[in-house]
Amino acid sequence: MISKVVCIGWNYKRHIAELNSELPTEPTVFFKPPSCIISDGDNIVIPEGVTNVQHEVELALVIGKRCRNISESQAMDYVSHLAVFNDVTARDMQHAARDAGNTWCLAKGMDTFGPLSEYVSADGIDVNNLDLELYVNGELKQKGNTRDMIFTPSFIVSYVSKYMTLEEGDVIATGTPEGISEIRKGDVVRAVIKGVGELINPVL
Ligand code: MG
Repeated sequence: MISKVVCIGWNYKRHIAELNSELPTEPTVFFKPPSCIISDGDNIVIPEGVTNVQHEVELALVIGKRCRNISESQAMDYVSHLAVFNDVTARDMQHAARDAGNTWCLAKGMDTFGPLSEYVSADGIDVNNLDLELYVNGELKQKGNTRDMIFTPSFIVSYVSKYMTLEEGDVIATGTPEGISEIRKGDVVRAVIKGVGELINPVL
């Protein structure tokens, strides 16, 4: 069971540049509610009146056993599985919230805004060298590699665990590379991480 989905924002330099944001000195951490999670093949549903919804392909880390305050060198021992995640975001609402000093809960937490692939065992996979790709209607939009993260998976797990208990089954999404773009009704979004999995979701 997923008790929480912890997400990292602004973790790839070229994505930060495309959003005109500043380089972070510490990870930007936020939650998506577990109720936003859908599976491979499910529809991403954009509510009436919500504009400029965008895709964000991300590597997801799945916590295998409860942990708190673990070191960076121990961190990957607590990650049992990996998955492909799409941090679907209502960008206009997110920016309006940021400008008003509010949180991103609604912009990123709507039902169906968290497509999550089948899990694959993390054993033997180098999380620091994985190719991420995202296609809309077959057209390549995002292409990146986890080696370009500002904060590595090990650092992120250790950092978050300093402040909150991570439960078995919790998901940590590690940020998206550049190339975000709008998705609209009728589009088909395909996110791929080679060696981890694939996620195909139509937009309704
Ligand atoms: Mg994201």
